[in-house]
Amino acid sequence: MIARPELRSFQPPVRTLMGPGPSDVPPRVLAALARPTVGHLDPAFVGMMDELKELLRYTFQTRNELTFPVSAPGSVGMETCVVNLVSPGDTVVVCINGVFGQRLAENVRRAGGVPVIVEDPWGEPVDPAKVEDTFKAHPEASLLAFVHAETSTGALSDAAALAAIARRFGALTLMDCVTSLGGVPVLLDEWGIDAAYSGSQKCLSCTPGLSPVSFSEAAVARIRARKTPCQSWFQDLSLVLGYWSGAKRTYHHTAPVNPLYGLHESLLMLAEEGLEAAWQRHRDNHLRLRAGLEALGLRFVVREDARLPQLNTVWVPDGVDEAAARTRLLKEYGLEIGAGLGVFAGKVWRIGLMGHSSRPANIALCLAALKDVLG
Ligand code: PLP
Repeated sequence: MIARPELRSFQPPVRTLMGPGPSDVPPRVLAALARPTVGHLDPAFVGMMDELKELLRYTFQTRNELTFPVSAPGSVGMETCVVNLVSPGDTVVVCINGVFGQRLAENVRRAGGVPVIVEDPWGEPVDPAKVEDTFKAHPEASLLAFVHAETSTGALSDAAALAAIARRFGALTLMDCVTSLGGVPVLLDEWGIDAAYSGSQKCLSCTPGLSPVSFSEAAVARIRARKTPCQSWFQDLSLVLGYWSGAKRTYHHTAPVNPLYGLHESLLMLAEEGLEAAWQRHRDNHLRLRAGLEALGLRFVVREDARLPQLNTVWVPDGVDEAAARTRLLKEYGLEIGAGLGVFAGKVWRIGLMGHSSRPANIALCLAALKDVLG
């Protein structure tokens, strides 16, 4: 059997990415990805891994020693946190206000834990009062899990308040910050978050496929005290650690060398800009986009005080074929925006202003294209 002779190198079209991720990848990061591959235990590469951990600690605002990028997308970061922190029979309070909270609950179930669900309507943030009541009813709960920035709806929850409740009841806190990291404040140490995972492809503006994670000392102590081994060999942190820390690194798996160059470059760009400046840029650009969307008659799904600046979810106007409109945006303007997920499928658009995509030129294109498509 031979490959078809007409096959050629893949040349992707140039797009403007304003969906829920991936976001536009800056040329500096694309150039870093193309640098020569070295061995994954090469001393030069190990030095870069140490810098990566340092840059991630800055990005997560933490001193946590155990901070590194998992060699897989955000979903594996989620699973890594759950399978290490949840032992069979553990009660876990899981907050659901969209698709990714549902996935957290499913991960807890599959790890043998018992999820106790705190449910809030789609488009609303997690209600701390409900979380408090749930801990009162389940004092045996040892972990609180929630999504900081729910990408399926565009709602931001109050992480500091939620972590404080868990602490009062002697539980650890696990936070999904896939969409929040780099776009709005994520302050692991100040808020007392014990475990967090993110994704490379949203406000960090790297390519998809890496999941930065961070674990507090209390989380590490819980992992070390496990009576049953972590069910996943690949994600067992006690094994991965020998690869990402210590004076002598030992082989665990072959790291994705070039993608890690890309993440290093994107985190460096974020550090050069400064986290506070990046948060402000996301906020300013959100306000600019919001003014334009409202001028087009579009209404936001999430109430103002819980809106994510990096993910703008609006109701599709009555009478508009939402899929046809997105197809026109892509074909005629090279512009990608996101469709609704789950119960919001067909009802909303999700317009991302994440990382390098959060810039005035993108906003101008998006507003002009939407104006045309909406007639
Ligand atoms: N959690 C949230 C909040 C997300 O938005 C996503 C992806 O969109 C994930 C988890 C999963 O990340 P990935 O698609 O990189 O596996």
